[in-house]
Amino acid sequence: MVVPGIIERQRPPRRPTKAAAVSTVETDLEVPGAARPASAAGDTGAPGAELTAARLARVGDLDVRRLLPLRQRRSVGAWCFVDHYGPASVDGVAGMQVPPHPHIGLQTVTWLIEGTVLHRDSLGSEQLIRPGQLNLMTAGRGIAHSEESPEDHDPRLHGVQLWLALPGAHRDTAPGFEHHAELPAVRLGGLDATVFAGSLAGVSSPARVFSGVVGAELSAPADARGAVPLAPAHEHVIFAAFGAAAAGRTGLQPGSLLYLPAGRESVAITARAGARLFLLGGEPLGETLLMWWNFVGRTPDDIAEAARDWATGQRFGTVTGYHGAPLAAPPLDPVRLARKARQA
Ligand code: MN
Repeated sequence: MVVPGIIERQRPPRRPTKAAAVSTVETDLEVPGAARPASAAGDTGAPGAELTAARLARVGDLDVRRLLPLRQRRSVGAWCFVDHYGPASVDGVAGMQVPPHPHIGLQTVTWLIEGTVLHRDSLGSEQLIRPGQLNLMTAGRGIAHSEESPEDHDPRLHGVQLWLALPGAHRDTAPGFEHHAELPAVRLGGLDATVFAGSLAGVSSPARVFSGVVGAELSAPADARGAVPLAPAHEHVIFAAFGAAAAGRTGLQPGSLLYLPAGRESVAITARAGARLFLLGGEPLGETLLMWWNFVGRTPDDIAEAARDWATGQRFGTVTGYHGAPLAAPPLDPVRLARKARQA
C-alpha cells in the first residue's frame, strides 16, 4: 500500500557519485573568451605563448577541468583531449563509474596522481591502475572500455584523462591495450619528471605511440626550479594539477593551460613544494580532426558509421564484468556535425 508522505521520506539514498565523464560531445560549449597572450601575464620572454582557462564541470563529487580541445586549438601535437579531475574524496561513495563506451581513432592515456581505477575493455583486458603507472589504450578502428573505482578503492581520487589522436596513416590500426607499472624518470634541476609518453631529456617511455610526442608528469618534492628541455619541432602545453608553479614568469595553477608554440629549446619551471605539473607536446599534427562524443574521425561519415555500429552492437566488441548498462551515444545531429567539420 502506498502512503503519500511516507514515499517522500523513503527516497533512495543519494545516487552514487558519477565521476570523470569522458565525452567530447559538450565541447561545442568551449571556453568562453579568447586565449590570453601569456605576455599579458608577465612572461614577455615567450612570444606566441597563450594562457587559457579550463571549462569547468561538476560531475558527482568531482571537479573536472577540461583544458583541451579549445575552439582556437583542437590539438597540441597529437594531444586532442585533456581532462583534469579532483583531487577529491571518494570515501564511502562509488567514485568513478564510467560505463562501457566506444572509441575510434585515438589512444586514451589514463594517469593518476591519487587513487585507484579499474579498466576493462572489449579485448578482455582488466587492469587496476595506481599513481605513477600508465594505462594506454589504442582504439584504432574500434574498442570499448569501462573505467571505475573498484569496490575497495582508495579514499582519494585525482588524475588526468588524455587522448592522443592517431595520425591518419594509423587511425584504423588494430585495437590494443598496454599497462606500464614502471616508467622512466629523470631529474631536471629540482624537479622529478616521469615520462609516460614519448621522450624527454633523453629518456623514453616504453609506451607505443604513433607520432612524435612527449607526455610527462613533473613533481616538486621541495620548492624547486628546473630547466625542462623541449624539442624545437614540437608545440607544447603545460598545466598545474596541484599546487603553485610558474613557467618563465607565467603563473600556473590548476584550471589554466599554457601553450608554447614550436621553436623553443627549453622552459624554466619554478614550483612550490608538492606541486604537480604536466608537460604535453608533439609535432603539430597537420591534420584536421573531427571529434564527436568519444570518437576522433576526419569526416561526418566516420562519426556516423561509428555511432551506428555502437548502437547496433557491431565493431566494438563487448566489455564484460562491469555492473551496469553501456553508455548510449547522444543523438547525432548531421547538420551540426557537418558544420563542425567545415569549421574544424
Ligand atoms: Mn573512454
